[in-house]
Amino acid sequence: MDRRGLPRRLPSVPVPAEGESFPSWLSRAAADWQIAPGRAAQALGLECHPRYRGVRPLRFGTALTPLSLQSVEAATGLDAPVIEAMQLSRYAGTVLDFTGRGEPGRQEESYFRLRNREWALFSSSRACPKCLASAPVWPLWWRLGMAAVCPEHHVLLVDTCPRCSARLGFGYTGHPRGLTTRDLMLDLDLCNNRRPASRGRKAGLCSQKLSALPAVPVPAELADLQQRFLDIVGGAPAQVAGSPVTPAEFFAAMRFTASVVRLVATPDEINSCAVLPVVAAQVFTANQQERLHADRGGRVSQFRTIPPSAAHAAAVLALSAPALFAPDLTTSQSVLTAWMDRAVALPRKPGRSDPLRLIPRPACLEPLVRAAVLPASRVAGVLVNRPPTSLLFTADHLPHLIDADDYTELIAWHLPGTAAMNGRRLAALALARLTGATSWQRAATALAMDSVKAFRATNTLVQRISDADAFWQDIERLGARAIERGLIDYAARRRALAELTMVPHAVLFEVCHPLRRDVTEQRRRHAAAWTWQHFTGGDVRDAPAYAPDLWGSTSRSFVREGGRRFSSWLPEPVSRQLTAYGQTLLDSPTPGKAWA
Ligand SMILES: [Zn+2]
Ligand SMILES: [Zn+2]
Repeated sequence: MDRRGLPRRLPSVPVPAEGESFPSWLSRAAADWQIAPGRAAQALGLECHPRYRGVRPLRFGTALTPLSLQSVEAATGLDAPVIEAMQLSRYAGTVLDFTGRGEPGRQEESYFRLRNREWALFSSSRACPKCLASAPVWPLWWRLGMAAVCPEHHVLLVDTCPRCSARLGFGYTGHPRGLTTRDLMLDLDLCNNRRPASRGRKAGLCSQKLSALPAVPVPAELADLQQRFLDIVGGAPAQVAGSPVTPAEFFAAMRFTASVVRLVATPDEINSCAVLPVVAAQVFTANQQERLHADRGGRVSQFRTIPPSAAHAAAVLALSAPALFAPDLTTSQSVLTAWMDRAVALPRKPGRSDPLRLIPRPACLEPLVRAAVLPASRVAGVLVNRPPTSLLFTADHLPHLIDADDYTELIAWHLPGTAAMNGRRLAALALARLTGATSWQRAATALAMDSVKAFRATNTLVQRISDADAFWQDIERLGARAIERGLIDYAARRRALAELTMVPHAVLFEVCHPLRRDVTEQRRRHAAAWTWQHFTGGDVRDAPAYAPDLWGSTSRSFVREGGRRFSSWLPEPVSRQLTAYGQTLLDSPTPGKAWA
């Protein structure tokens, strides 16, 4: 240890191979130094679990604690990015999501929850026997849930060791004592999983030769699909249904299609899938039967878990490919539509909704799925035959009230006896549901809309709709119009204007003075409310300038009447001035500081 408590620099350090995993490199380093892996972890100064006596490095192979990273840097002289590239955390933000859900600031998720949720093998690895025959280097991507085949050797990856029946690469990592520190050197050509003592045999390490593991050949097309996946993992541009998406969106779409094919792929379809080796088809079908019998149409979590084996991952890859790697929207749409038809027709327990409704839909597939689920929209083809920009349509692009003319033309007849303001609010909420909100309440949240107002708009109004299919079809038309006119980020506008309670005196004075109008405080507030409504498309009563505490004892009806008189008076030079002022607020990086 040096003065800072960091380990001393080690005399020789094996260079990590391209894409190698940290446990693999640690084993090779230990062999190089002729010590046990646990001793090597100690020499590197890896921070270990404080509650165990053995050597159990924290988040081993997944991420390094700041202290562990510092120590490995000091001990090896390797650069931090090289060391970090060997951890699963390198995939955070692409194929894996390491952030917590629903917590302010999106803190890092607890390790336990990560292990249950993300599609990665946290304490073992899949492996290609042919790769291991040439060098004892285990690539990091073999630990991903979608690792299925070796793109170089065209064989299925292997999950478990036939001799010890444990997952490969499990070693000592899952054992309470952690990495072995006993004075032994590992033969890296062998399985080396810990074997507990049994009748007539002492505890020891599994001696299965890795190069002799069974290798199932796969067609080149499947290896090619795996390579396309790996390219995206490595940062190559990704597409879904012919539109560019981020890697994270791509993997979200892949997890969705995986759930869908698990639910709806038929044995015929699986068996006739030319790129799948027989064993992969069998493994997938068996797993599918198991799920369906366990709880028919039941728990969603079952359809969202990590592919339990390389063979299963291969089937997911092959069966998802027609939708995911489709060259264009239309091809992708026809595949999804066929799947959704089958999902809806699945037998299920009474009262249970079809499980696909409960699986979160990735934004990039939402319009396609929505179009596939609603039979009416297929006739209209409203969102379906849009250019790819329709894939960018989210709740952020919605005002709280839809356009008054659009409402009269398309929606009003569905809602007899409804005040236009309430109907327009309901239509905005319905559009938010189109973008993926699974309930009215979630739609309100997606729109950052007052939940009481949203409840009032949806609770009784939806009962007035007599033809639901026609209603949703018209809501889709609304969405199509919004896209046609060019999408506006209303959520950003609401954020930028959230503090607009009063228009500066100077702004109004410039245009009111020539009109011989005084610039009163009330007029400045009404002007602020008008500007807010003009840009956000919201209900003027929700304007920040009309917050009750700003008006003291003034009655609500008096304020409302003042607002009405202000907007009916509003001459063109004033509205132009207010529009220009509002625009500077939207353009300003610090809201409220513009026009200072
Ligand atoms: Zn290989
Ligand atoms: Zn073994």
